Amino acid sequence: MPTSAKNPHLPFGDQRMAPWYGKDIISVKQFSRSDLEYVFAVAHEMRVMVERVGTFDLLKGKILANLFYEPSTRTSSSFAAAMERLGGSVISINEVRYSSVAKGESLPDTIRTLECYADVIVIRHPELGSAAIAAQAAHKPVINAGDGVGEHPTQALLDAFTIHEELVQMDDLTVTMLGDLKYGRTVHSLSRLLSLYNAKLNYVSPEILRMPPEIIAELEAKGIRQAEHNALDKVLPETDVLYVTRVQRERFESEEVYNSVKGAFVVDKNIMAGAKKKMIVMHPLPRVAEINVDFDDDPRAAYFRQMEFGLYVRMALLAMVLGKA
Ligand code: ASP
Repeated sequence: MPTSAKNPHLPFGDQRMAPWYGKDIISVKQFSRSDLEYVFAVAHEMRVMVERVGTFDLLKGKILANLFYEPSTRTSSSFAAAMERLGGSVISINEVRYSSVAKGESLPDTIRTLECYADVIVIRHPELGSAAIAAQAAHKPVINAGDGVGEHPTQALLDAFTIHEELVQMDDLTVTMLGDLKYGRTVHSLSRLLSLYNAKLNYVSPEILRMPPEIIAELEAKGIRQAEHNALDKVLPETDVLYVTRVQRERFESEEVYNSVKGAFVVDKNIMAGAKKKMIVMHPLPRVAEINVDFDDDPRAAYFRQMEFGLYVRMALLAMVLGKA
């Protein structure tokens, strides 16, 4: 459910037509099943428009500030492309080393600065809760593009859209999440979104990288079927979506511990012989070695299509918070 609007300048009737206008997107917990259907419908329209005309003027004159305190390829470039495909423009701050952050400026002050120039702010930051702090400081909508080990709501929305586009249904799916479930913020967000549907969730990880107990408890309270495993083979045959994650090297305090788990699971052509013919393999990317390139040409390998869907979902989200969807 969207929280209160920051920009309630639209007439009341129009606000009802644009329920996300002026809202922050900080957590997937803001989204209901009907909100998701709305996002999917708008994203689908964006896909059709991009395929038909490429670029159009829905957000002409609007400016996005893309503020990244952590590395990013897909999220930052797809938000920038999304804004430009909608006719808007982008202020990119990818190297906070070269901004006033390097002089010791606080996050709220940086946000207050950017909102003088931009209509919407996308932020990625290494600290859990940082996007909420930014949203509190801002009068313009703030979108969380990853807050440390916390959430990555726009990734989860594009993941859900991918499942919806590829498998058509969202209910009654068995989703197996594999890899670093402790530090992987994408699985934290996606598991919560899938709890809106009648999904069965399998968690396969090394012992030290298990899904956080508070997320398991949160989903348990909603009656979601969940099971933890330390091997893939038992659950692969029943899996409709295999969601593979990278072991998050940057979150480990010791290189030794990282090395002990980094190669724990590798998905390849041979292993995938044990999976259904109609299922998909997803990955938020970047991959390191957890999916062998020998699987890339398999029609079930959905991770490159998933990246493309990210563009349409981010176009939809920008249009929504700027009152144009
Ligand atoms: N790109 C994703 C994220 O920012 C996944 C990853 O980095 O492994 O969380």
